[in-house]
Amino acid sequence: MHPYDVLIIGGGPIGLACGIAAQQAGLQYLILEKGTLVNSLFNYPLFMTFFSTAERLEIGGVPFMSLAPKPGRQEAMEYYRRVTAHYGLSIRLFEAVETVEQTTPHQFTVTTTKGHYQANNVIVATGFYDIPVQMDIPGEELPKVSHYYKEPHFYAFQDVVIVGAANSAIDAALEIWRRGGRVTLVIRGSEIGSVKYWIRPDIENRIQEGSIRAYFNSTLVAVRDNEVDLDTPEGRVTLPNDWVLALTGYQPDFELLRRFGIAVAPDESQCPVYNPDTMETNRSGMYLAGVVCGGMDTRLWFIENSREHADKIIQAILADRQAASGS
Ligand SMILES: Cc1cc2nc3c(=O)[nH]c(=O)nc-3n(C[C@H](O)[C@H](O)[C@H](O)COP(=O)(O)OP(=O)(O)OC[C@H]3O[C@@H](n4cnc5c(N)ncnc54)[C@H](O)[C@@H]3O)c2cc1C
Repeated sequence: MHPYDVLIIGGGPIGLACGIAAQQAGLQYLILEKGTLVNSLFNYPLFMTFFSTAERLEIGGVPFMSLAPKPGRQEAMEYYRRVTAHYGLSIRLFEAVETVEQTTPHQFTVTTTKGHYQANNVIVATGFYDIPVQMDIPGEELPKVSHYYKEPHFYAFQDVVIVGAANSAIDAALEIWRRGGRVTLVIRGSEIGSVKYWIRPDIENRIQEGSIRAYFNSTLVAVRDNEVDLDTPEGRVTLPNDWVLALTGYQPDFELLRRFGIAVAPDESQCPVYNPDTMETNRSGMYLAGVVCGGMDTRLWFIENSREHADKIIQAILADRQAASGS
């Protein structure tokens, strides 16, 4: 089997950007994606709006047109699908990478749910949306608790506790309240987190007028079938409850990174080790791209600022090849 020059793990926006850069450089490449195209975006809330303007989400120089000031999930899926078709990207969907074995510095065997591939270089662009940060509290495993929010109608006329204070939690709180849900926010800090600037007055006013109840400096400590317990500055509070949305953030699949042999910082950031000039990891010929680079700090990298990883990596691969052919 002839090895690919580059095998890209993950068909999110940044994996696609890497594919485009590889194609433009004349490299043989393949993108492997465990779900559908841009699987993370597919799993976002239905009515989610990006905080970025459309042009900041563009890849491969293809214009992203949106009628709204900020595009939504649906438009973004259309855009990345059209970009994939436009470039005729080489991609296999619903094929998860399980292991990457390195035989010599630039020889990898990649094993997926469907087969084996040989590659000279591997780019890991696996994102962070598949693994929620757990609350580790009793009752978290109940079916009424979810770490993902899809759409508001389901929660109409229900008692809903939402844990979190960032964009996902605040968007969900407002949408659900507007569809008749009785929403209580449980916020660890003393204020709303960093949210889209046009959303902030909306949530602050809803809390102030009492439409959405918010417990600050509080934590959810237990979930039972019909109620929940909170620890608040005023002591333990028990509330009637139908559903819990624990929108407490997500984290990269560290187990997968370790299986790939990528070193991770021993501190709480668990930042994967890579050279910021080339994006090469501790394994020669294995690169990191996109939001996975931040480790637990998932607010460091976005599409906006990580799409440039693609060109950096492909330039590094080309330079490496040139050096090898000259030596
Ligand atoms: C709700 C939300 C809103 C956001 N809004 C913005 C915004 O407005 N602007 C902005 O710039 N950024 C935003 N971000 C951040 C960023 O857009 C996303 O995280 C983006 O999807 C990152 O792209 P990525 O390609 O690095 O990772 P992802 O899009 O997560 O892609 C990783 C892909 O790898 C696949 N994968 C994982 N493991 C494997 C495996 N073993 N084998 C094969 N495939 C695998 C996954 O299925 C996934 O499709 C937002 C994030 C979230 C969660």
